[in-house]
Amino acid sequence: MVRAEQVHKSFGPVKVLRGIDLEVRRGEVFCLVGPSGSGKSTFLRCINHLEQISAGRLWVDGRLVGYRQKGRKLYEMKEREVAAQRRDIGMVFQRFNLFPHMTAVENVMEAPVQVKGVPRARARERAVELLERVGLGDKIRAYPAQLSGGQQQRVAIARALAMDPKLMLFDEPTSALDPELVGEVLDVMRQLAEEGMTMIVVTHEMGFAREVGDSLVFMDGGVVVEAGHPREVLTDPRHERTRAFLSKVL
Ligand code: ATP
Ligand code: MG
Repeated sequence: MVRAEQVHKSFGPVKVLRGIDLEVRRGEVFCLVGPSGSGKSTFLRCINHLEQISAGRLWVDGRLVGYRQKGRKLYEMKEREVAAQRRDIGMVFQRFNLFPHMTAVENVMEAPVQVKGVPRARARERAVELLERVGLGDKIRAYPAQLSGGQQQRVAIARALAMDPKLMLFDEPTSALDPELVGEVLDVMRQLAEEGMTMIVVTHEMGFAREVGDSLVFMDGGVVVEAGHPREVLTDPRHERTRAFLSKVL
């Protein structure tokens, strides 16, 4: 579903990604861990072309991200094509970024109505269904300010799912939450995984990575230091840097 070949990303003189190679298979829960500043968020942002890579190749669902290929030449996609490509990718951030002046159900139906032109009645029906799926059937008319952080994050997940994404990107979805609210968000993510969603999850929740993850990559300094099955990497890390990192978060 996602393939990265020698992906580099620099901001001016600062080299943030220094040759990322990895592959995320369809239906897989792919966990990305690493210290602050290692480039995890930058890599996620490259996947949906919020950042343009400086070198290398990146594919989502068999298509180059942000470029069209003709023969051996690459052409930058037009904004419209980029938007179409991005539509298939759901993203959930640390901060929930819900529209504060809209209810839960309005937040979830907004993109299908505005972006896909889905009729309001149908979009609303689907939004209610999705909110029920994330355990918020009784909160559809609540405004974000009336919801807990965990509930807001579940609305954010429902909102991403409303676009029927092929791939979901999670960037530390639970790290802004009070500890007692983390579980309810991880439960929704676990349920999504069981339903077969392809997910890339940046997280410090090693319990989740171990139980739900199919692959785990440890990144440091813009490179993949170690990759493997989460249980393998977490219980028997091969590299000193992985060990040092895990001893801090486990
Ligand atoms: P964290 O765990 O703290 O979220 P991260 O692994 O997600 O860290 P990134 O946010 O990808 O790290 O940042 C990696 C590096 O890239 C940092 O040194 C950051 O300052 C730099 N960086 C990120 N975005 C930009 C930008 N738009 N311009 C300049 N530098 C940037
Ligand atoms: Mg980050």
